[in-house]
Amino acid sequence: MNLEELDREYVLGSYARNYTNFVRGEGARLYDEDGNEYIDFAAGIAVNSVGHAHPRLSRAICEQASKIIHVSNLQLIEPQAKLAARIVETSGYDMRCFFANSGAEANEAALKIARKYGEKSFERKRYKVITLKHSFHGRTITTVKATGQASMHKDDFSPYPDGFTYVESVDAVYEAIDDETVAVMIELVQGEGGVQPFERDEIKELCNFLKSRELLLIVDEVQTGVYRTGEFLASQLYEIEPDIITLAKGLGGGVPIGVAMTRLKDIFEPGDHGSTFGGNYLSTTAALSVMDILQREQESGALAERIEYFSSYLERVSLSMPEYFDSAVGLGLMRGLRAKSAEIQSAVVKKAFDERLIILKAGRNTVRFLPPLTIDREEMDEGFKRFEKALSTL
Ligand SMILES: *Cc1c(COP(=O)(O)O)cnc(C)c1O
Repeated sequence: MNLEELDREYVLGSYARNYTNFVRGEGARLYDEDGNEYIDFAAGIAVNSVGHAHPRLSRAICEQASKIIHVSNLQLIEPQAKLAARIVETSGYDMRCFFANSGAEANEAALKIARKYGEKSFERKRYKVITLKHSFHGRTITTVKATGQASMHKDDFSPYPDGFTYVESVDAVYEAIDDETVAVMIELVQGEGGVQPFERDEIKELCNFLKSRELLLIVDEVQTGVYRTGEFLASQLYEIEPDIITLAKGLGGGVPIGVAMTRLKDIFEPGDHGSTFGGNYLSTTAALSVMDILQREQESGALAERIEYFSSYLERVSLSMPEYFDSAVGLGLMRGLRAKSAEIQSAVVKKAFDERLIILKAGRNTVRFLPPLTIDREEMDEGFKRFEKALSTL
């Protein structure tokens, strides 16, 4: 059997998979088995934050793997402690971290923190979490139920856990709060929902309101976190102080890791929560290296320049092609073009791939761009050139 046949025969069919065999990458470039070069404007899905085969990240992983990969969370793990300190210091928030292996798991931890807070802090238990209709919070039975999109709650997988209320907009949160509500969970820029940022003022107002009621704000920064919006956390950009923040995608540069961080520093006691793999030597060493690389990119101003260059290009495309696109949306290097229709969205992504440019879909009609945060000018220009070629063949 060839590779595609092997995959089709032995891997469960949960993905509409593309069968190009990538064998190597460098920066924002990927190479398939025939040596064809692709420009990667997707970075996995916002995962390869420092691009492919970044020499510092590769070296850190190799050196760590040759010493020790794993012991268990019953032992001290040096890079885990250092990463927790690094994340908290960089965030500017007074918090502690729990380490998991994915975004869904980070959100599970956040929901457990909220539930325990709801049990301990009020006369009558509060456990309901309000989320938004176009949100995305993960694929486990609980986080898929936390995800507001009704199409995600297929009967095939029912029954789902109780305790989630969905609202159409931030404005609608206030009315949805009842005497069992403990938290609101929100992405500051909805990723899978269509690269949709919320207004800073409405989020600030929500944050203040929840604080005044002693209810929690959980910010799902699985996609927006780790410099994707230009700041380490989108929460910093929005100038808010959430109670719980979750991270995952870009943090390990491709090595699986998730974090739930909270200002409820004493919420968990031994036995309350755990993870076999979460925060082991390999993933936390990788994340420390990613933090080093990206902090420097931000402090030097290089990241801000890239964001400006990338976003103004997309703005121009959107304005010059009103027959295909309504607007350019997004923040930082989390960007989208709102297509006129789902057909145009699909055609653009497909034609781009034919030109060897990798971009993504989001929501019903958004073409999504999530390039590595280290992408250089030449890689951007080459990608844009291919994008224009793809558009010219629509
Ligand atoms: C991707 C994503 C998740 C799920 O992360 P996994 O690592 O796939 O479990 C959760 N929330 C948001 C906002 C995401 O973008």
